[in-house]
Amino acid sequence: MFESLTDRLSGVFRSLGGRVQLTEENIQEAMREVRLALLEADVNFKVVKDFTDTVKEKALGTLVMKGVSPAQQVIKVVNDELVHLLGGESTELKLQGQQPAVILMAGLQGSGKTTSSGKLALLLRKQKMKPYLVPADVYRPAAIEQLRTLAKQLDIPCFDSKADMKPADIVQNALMDAKEKQCTVVILDTAGRLHIDEPLMQELRTIKDIAKPQETLFVADAMTGQDAVTVADAFNQQIGITGVVLTKMDGDARGGAALSIKAVTGAPVKFVGMGEKLSEMEVFHPDRIAGRILG
Ligand code: GDP
Repeated sequence: MFESLTDRLSGVFRSLGGRVQLTEENIQEAMREVRLALLEADVNFKVVKDFTDTVKEKALGTLVMKGVSPAQQVIKVVNDELVHLLGGESTELKLQGQQPAVILMAGLQGSGKTTSSGKLALLLRKQKMKPYLVPADVYRPAAIEQLRTLAKQLDIPCFDSKADMKPADIVQNALMDAKEKQCTVVILDTAGRLHIDEPLMQELRTIKDIAKPQETLFVADAMTGQDAVTVADAFNQQIGITGVVLTKMDGDARGGAALSIKAVTGAPVKFVGMGEKLSEMEVFHPDRIAGRILG
């Protein structure tokens, strides 16, 4: 991921590297290149503009500093702004409060919701939590079966949802069962549609009212680029999201969604899916990703 962006940016910084002193013009030229590199990586247009404006302003401010190579100073400014763009420090799950804690997974069909629910359960168990899975997509019996199979594979308790149950009843009963089993975190896999529609949003609002999740994670397919960002924004406005799981990053060489979603929605990417296997999910660390982008 981010391969071409890394290539482009390292070219920009190489051209600055040879200079003992930087002028405003050098920085402006470099920012033009950074802008093109980000646009090519499919980053949201407004996000690119704000990013390059901020970097330019801060880099100009550092020109007066002595002792550090000017190129290094610019790279540091870009690095800091990239970390900020990717979510800064705010990517940890916040599960304080009611027990068991509840994580609601929302997103369009095919985005990787069910797989990510299983992956997240595994990840949280590794962190010594006791997860409980809830299939609440009653419109696709195959989805219920899919999560049940994953749960069995992972040996994680899973609510016995039936396709003729109402999602609200599933959630209510599942929460009681999870409490009885002394689980510490409940992961709700909700229904997805091929596009956003009002009945889906209404159902999510109902589930949210009942479950009062500490985290509402929007699951987005990174390969859909700016579409993922637009849909995340719509979900956020309609139901409120606290974070994003960006799936299929293994197939996304550009990284536009990862670089835009926090700035557009205010919700940071918290996890990334890196493959189909249940172990292939990682906590999203903005500083490490920024480091990777800058090569
Ligand atoms: P849902 O409809 O949102 O529940 O989506 P699924 O969890 O069923 O996933 C849809 C497809 O995407 C499946 O074939 C998954 O194996 C695949 N998938 C999910 N996450 C990832 C990922 O991080 N990387 C890759 N390569 N495939 C993924």
